[in-house]
Amino acid sequence: MPRFAPPQRVLIVGAGEFGSTTALALARGAYKGHEHLITVLDRSPTPPATDAASYDYNKIVRQEYTDPLYANLAREAMIGWRGEWKEFFHETGVIMTARPAGVATAEKSYAVNFLPGMETPGKCARKLSGKADVQAQYGAGVPLGDFADCYAYHNECGGWAEAARATEAAVAKARAAGVTFRCGTAKKLVVNGGRVTGVVTEENADAYTADLVVLCCGSWTPTLVPDLKENLLPTGQVVGFVQLTPEEHERYKDVPVTMTALNGFYIFPPTATGLVKFAIHELGYLNPQAGYPSLPRTHLSRGYEMQSIPAHGHAKLLRNLAAVYPELAKKPFSASRLCWYSDRQSGDFLLDYHPEYNGTLFIGAGGSGHAFKFLPVIGGLIEQGIQGTMPQQYRDIFGYKSRPDRVDGRFEYSEFTRLDGDSKL
Ligand SMILES: Cc1cc2nc3c(=O)[nH]c(=O)nc-3n(C[C@H](O)[C@H](O)[C@H](O)COP(=O)(O)OP(=O)(O)OC[C@H]3O[C@@H](n4cnc5c(N)ncnc54)[C@H](O)[C@@H]3O)c2cc1C
Repeated sequence: MPRFAPPQRVLIVGAGEFGSTTALALARGAYKGHEHLITVLDRSPTPPATDAASYDYNKIVRQEYTDPLYANLAREAMIGWRGEWKEFFHETGVIMTARPAGVATAEKSYAVNFLPGMETPGKCARKLSGKADVQAQYGAGVPLGDFADCYAYHNECGGWAEAARATEAAVAKARAAGVTFRCGTAKKLVVNGGRVTGVVTEENADAYTADLVVLCCGSWTPTLVPDLKENLLPTGQVVGFVQLTPEEHERYKDVPVTMTALNGFYIFPPTATGLVKFAIHELGYLNPQAGYPSLPRTHLSRGYEMQSIPAHGHAKLLRNLAAVYPELAKKPFSASRLCWYSDRQSGDFLLDYHPEYNGTLFIGAGGSGHAFKFLPVIGGLIEQGIQGTMPQQYRDIFGYKSRPDRVDGRFEYSEFTRLDGDSKL
């Protein structure tokens, strides 16, 4: 028996990956035939918002999690990427590289490919033996940096997803199914008799009412639920881009995704327009604000429209870019920005009811920089959480309180940096 079913109304706040796929899962599940009872509210009239984590050219999709729970989930998601979502998936393969300090981590990741059930027919993972073998994966016309001399393996399984387009498609599918989308910024929860009964918006103090409110606001979630300000910490991550010439694009077009174990740098193949994106998966920057350890500061924040990144973040990106593609490091960045993770110390997502409010407020957030690859399955998982049917092993890690015994690996090689107003380029 579902906990929520027609005629109860559901309000989902936020239409990034989490919110849009939750709407879709409910519309295909308990609300099939009653999709008009689901409303999605987003700050943007054309969600996801341009400063949302899901609004991006590309995100890595891979299944090599050393934690078997995530590995199984990622494997399930990969089936979805090769099926319903294949239009947005580029299975270019992934190279994982490591300097001595990161080899043990990379080895563990490599071994996952050979666990029962993880093999993919026709796709193999293999260790690369030296510079020439690494070079062969990129093609002779692509000059490589010193990383090519390090430990490396190549996995044909995995690649990247067109994030903004895939999320827009989830929104379009939900809309086509009959879900109502509205534009507005939720300012606060409306609470009556210990139950959340809706939200009030900033624009005109309209109240949206519902029997269940699902918050999928990514890194903005603590603005509505301040008790999550530390457990869903907004952290800014530096991202850079270079624009290839048509000649460079031709030479680089078939390169794999490249990742570096134990410093978090990763770089994508060029997009269809020759744009190469690179970033660092680390603890990142904090933007302390009154009463909050950090809140997102994006190109939509007043005074930061140009979205400059801190000088030391720029230097770090450049150093790592030079170590992979020295030729591209000589080009100017065509753009750079801070992209905001919704981080939990455990690195686990938060997919659970708020402990107060009598089961009327559900939170779907805490992507911790690695949730996009789960787009084909995350909405279904959130629906299970709402309906109380989520398998116990997932409830154990996605609960409202982080498990203290689980600590994200980034704490091993990175530290928080405070983002000060004067640290712009
Ligand atoms: C730089 C970067 C790189 C990443 N790389 C990868 C990767 O390679 N692979 C991977 O698997 N994952 C990656 N991730 C993680 C992944 O992108 C996120 O986990 C995922 O996109 C989060 O989706 P979301 O729906 O929770 O949040 P978001 O996409 O941020 O969406 C939140 C939505 O809520 C709306 N909203 C917020 N507040 C309100 C409000 N008060 N009222 C109304 N609407 C509101 C916003 O407008 C927005 O549309 C990366 C993340 C970042 C930032």
